[in-house]
Amino acid sequence: RVLRGVSTASLIEEPIHPPVQVNYTQLLINGDFVDSASGKTFPTLDPRTGEVIAHVAEGDAEDINRAVIAARKAFDEGPWPKMTGYERSCILNRFADLIEKHNDEIAALESWDSGKPYQQSYRSEIPTVARLMRYYAGWADKIHGLIVPADSQHHVQVLHEPIGVAGQIIPWNFPLLMYAWKVGPALACGNTIVLKTAEQTPLSALYVSKLLLEAGLPAGVLNVISGFGPTAGAAIASHMDVDKLAFTGSTDTGKIVLELSAKSNLKPVTLELGGKSPMIIMDDADIDRAVALAHVALFFNQGQCCSAGSRTFVHERIYDEFVEKAKARALKRIVGDPFKKGVEQGPQIDEEQFSKILRYIKSGIDSGATLVTGGDRIGNKGYYIQPTIFSDVQDEMKIAQDEIFGPVQSILKDLNEVIRRANASRYGLAAGVVTKNIDTANTLMRALRAGSVWINCFDVAGAAIPFGGYKMSGHGRERGIDSLMNYLQVKAVVTPLKEPCLAVNIIRTLT
Ligand code: NAD
Repeated sequence: RVLRGVSTASLIEEPIHPPVQVNYTQLLINGDFVDSASGKTFPTLDPRTGEVIAHVAEGDAEDINRAVIAARKAFDEGPWPKMTGYERSCILNRFADLIEKHNDEIAALESWDSGKPYQQSYRSEIPTVARLMRYYAGWADKIHGLIVPADSQHHVQVLHEPIGVAGQIIPWNFPLLMYAWKVGPALACGNTIVLKTAEQTPLSALYVSKLLLEAGLPAGVLNVISGFGPTAGAAIASHMDVDKLAFTGSTDTGKIVLELSAKSNLKPVTLELGGKSPMIIMDDADIDRAVALAHVALFFNQGQCCSAGSRTFVHERIYDEFVEKAKARALKRIVGDPFKKGVEQGPQIDEEQFSKILRYIKSGIDSGATLVTGGDRIGNKGYYIQPTIFSDVQDEMKIAQDEIFGPVQSILKDLNEVIRRANASRYGLAAGVVTKNIDTANTLMRALRAGSVWINCFDVAGAAIPFGGYKMSGHGRERGIDSLMNYLQVKAVVTPLKEPCLAVNIIRTLT
């Protein structure tokens, strides 16, 4: 069934010129911006039009090797790992100051390259990048090991040392936030880095990395390579001299990088992968509030969120009213040029994602779900898609199983066996619950197999709040204290005690 409403909210006009210039398009290796070894470049496109913003150096295996050599030298011979934590924290704080100073240009670059609303970049994402840098600056001089008791007459120290050269591969949906989640803890712990940006969004990372050099980061500590996954990305994952890999992207690519790591030097890998998160609305919920929350949970960032609440389970007693109100909200969603004030939704990132989303919409219709609103592209230029809602979605439909990564809300009726159904997914990244009943909230919170559970809220993030997945949503956690251990080695140092009693007394006095 197709029950389309007419949206009054779509405003596609001539694109507004972003208030920024593109100054950095080369690779950052050993403190210098350089061309790729092959001399090749690739275009980065404006999702509003599909037109070229700039041509960017295309790094491949040879450039990754150059970057790893620089990072290795910076780690083995350079000042960074030997600096005091306080010195590192000062550099990270200066970096945060510079990000705040250039917030407008960075936000403009981010929105131009990714299509996300400028207000979102300007007000939230770029300030959060600065906030994350300050959070990790705060940790840099608080990373220390432990003295632990021995079972014999020995003195035992457990040292926490930087792990070495960290390889980092990031996606396009939150280009600079993903950069901050990875670069922040790695630098705070004293590591050096080879980071590959997503091929769709290379610009903002190059810009801010220049600011990081200006803040005092020594040459070679952070190397940034623009390029493609199967070439540059795979070269990082399989490099014998990369000591650790942190990856954010799709579950399929996560499997590839894990395999490349296993086949090369067994580097430890942290993975932040896809999701298909349940959003559970109980019948005691305030319906207007629940509709607003479920809307943001799915449509935020054009639906391109790994944590998106993409299976909205609604109690049957309030189902019809919920669907009507969700439709009214979607029809009011303001879609348009991300640089226009008030716009809530910009274009999808590229042609590939845009076509994939439209295929999922077709699959929803073909499998018998009711198309309540949306379902088409907007305009004939760029990658805009109408906010789309399906009702009468069944658990086994593709739109309820796969990560669509677009503005498509699937509403499922009734909460019978909702715990089993919510958990019946290969993913386990996040979940939301809307209820006024504390017992219901507590029961669901404990039963849901997900790395984040939001009760009466969604997507609330913070520098200290760990984020990551259960099941095929990934390994390990980013943000918070947990992220530091990803970038530390643990060394146990044991020495015999000549004067056991005295030594024990000293330890007691110190602790
Ligand atoms: P993707 O896996 O295609 O790409 C992610 C990164 O991996 C890019 O930099 C890409 O160039 C690189 N890559 C691709 N193939 C590679 C290969 N063979 N070897 C090494 N690197 C390779 O994913 P995408 O479509 O760009 O991003 C969307 C996906 O990312 C979604 O599934 C989303 O859920 C996930 N994601 C997860 C989180 C999280 O924290 N869990 C955050 C953001 C995005």
